[in-house]
Amino acid sequence: MQREVTTVWNRCLQVIREIVPEQSFNTWFEPIVPLRLQGNVLTIQVPSQFFYEWLEDNFIHALRKALDASIGRDGQLEYSIIVDQGNERNRPLAVQMPTTRTPQNARPDNVNPNILKSPFQLKDLDSLALDSYLNPTYAFDNYIEGDCNRLARSAGFAVADRPGLTAFNPLMIHGGVGLGKTHLVQAIGNYIKNNFADKFVLYVTSEKFTNQFLNAIKSDALRDFTQFYMQVDVLIIDDVQFLQKKEKTQEIFFHIFNHLHQSGKQIILTSDRAPRNLDGLEDRLLSRFKWGLSADLQTPDLETRIAIMQKKLQAEGVYIDDNVIEYLAHSVNTNVRELEGVIVSLMAQASLTRREIDLDLAKQTLRNIVVDSGKEVTIDTVQEMVAEFYNVTVADLKAKSRKRELVYPRQVAMYIAKEKTDLSLKSIGYHFGGRDHSTVIHAIQCVNDMIAEKADTKEAITKLMGYFK
Ligand code: ADP
Ligand code: MG
Repeated sequence: MQREVTTVWNRCLQVIREIVPEQSFNTWFEPIVPLRLQGNVLTIQVPSQFFYEWLEDNFIHALRKALDASIGRDGQLEYSIIVDQGNERNRPLAVQMPTTRTPQNARPDNVNPNILKSPFQLKDLDSLALDSYLNPTYAFDNYIEGDCNRLARSAGFAVADRPGLTAFNPLMIHGGVGLGKTHLVQAIGNYIKNNFADKFVLYVTSEKFTNQFLNAIKSDALRDFTQFYMQVDVLIIDDVQFLQKKEKTQEIFFHIFNHLHQSGKQIILTSDRAPRNLDGLEDRLLSRFKWGLSADLQTPDLETRIAIMQKKLQAEGVYIDDNVIEYLAHSVNTNVRELEGVIVSLMAQASLTRREIDLDLAKQTLRNIVVDSGKEVTIDTVQEMVAEFYNVTVADLKAKSRKRELVYPRQVAMYIAKEKTDLSLKSIGYHFGGRDHSTVIHAIQCVNDMIAEKADTKEAITKLMGYFK
């Protein structure tokens, strides 16, 4: 029997080892002792309540896979939480997988509540062995610098170089979605981890922090939770806007924040808006956020977008012609994540259809993506609609010809592109045969004048604009 449980558990470990990073494996799976196997129920012994919660929060999928492989789909897991080592009388805490944990239901009434009070002994562990939840691919090396991120990046680097010792504590990075907040703070974390072996760096999203906190309350493990966080050397909390209106979580965070700050530990935060716009955040917490430095990330300009794309493609080992890159950089200017999404689709398209990535494929892909998400008007649709309306071709709109019957539709198309897409004047000019931005300004001016002076122009434009909601 004992042999069987050991065999089953070893099989589980094999599976888990393949999924989980080595450090996490050593920290969270080595200490587990397989106790027994009854039917399809495997009972494992874990050192503390907090340990059990961490497993369920972070490794539930790995555990499920392991059970599938070792016992089968009906395999179940029970935890036995130790209070005193070797105390056989502790009853196992039964939790069925893969249901989401609901500790109140999961804890049988007859379990001694003291069982849940065993503190998580962080100080006995080597900080290197603790998982930081950092993604090693996020680095300074592949974080392209531009006007849009210069301050944030250099402050980030200063903090990474001397964690807790600069005036940038906390360092708050804010900016819209997909502009590189997570990348930057993870790069800081990775840098510190690689250069300061004794520092325990922890990356956590505010959402996860909140959930851990709520679970800790439910299972009476608040002390473990707080103690754990208070021993972190570099705490990175992503997307703090999520803490808005969560008063209890803010309170505990305030407490942890103060403790870390007073002990000279580094705190790094991100938010999708500037601190002053974080409504529903307690003033005392807000004022803490303002102690250090708050730096924003802006939408990258054209040159930075091109550089970012080149870097990504290089990392993927894919070659794309410069004119395609330029086209994409002119067409996608919302944020870096969308830009990356376009590259990925493009590569997928190219490999599916066994085509070279050329300008045509880029245009086609872009159209599909934008049509799919249904949220934006593309320059291509504007040009097609206007060309059809005036009975000319898209090529005519882009051509050099100064014929009157072409100049007017071209100006109208530029005007509508300005109104209905969020492209810059420079990018609009680019899409009209490489004209410069002053030509676009002039076109818009002409159309405005005509709208004011001629009823039929006004009517035509209103009608055309109506096609693009
Ligand atoms: P956020 O957290 O602000 O929503 P992310 O950090 O997740 O944004 O960035 C979205 C994507 O864009 C990531 O894949 C990231 O690597 C990439 N990215 C953002 N800014 C840059 C940059 N300056 N250089 C290189 N890649 C970037
Ligand atoms: Mg992010």
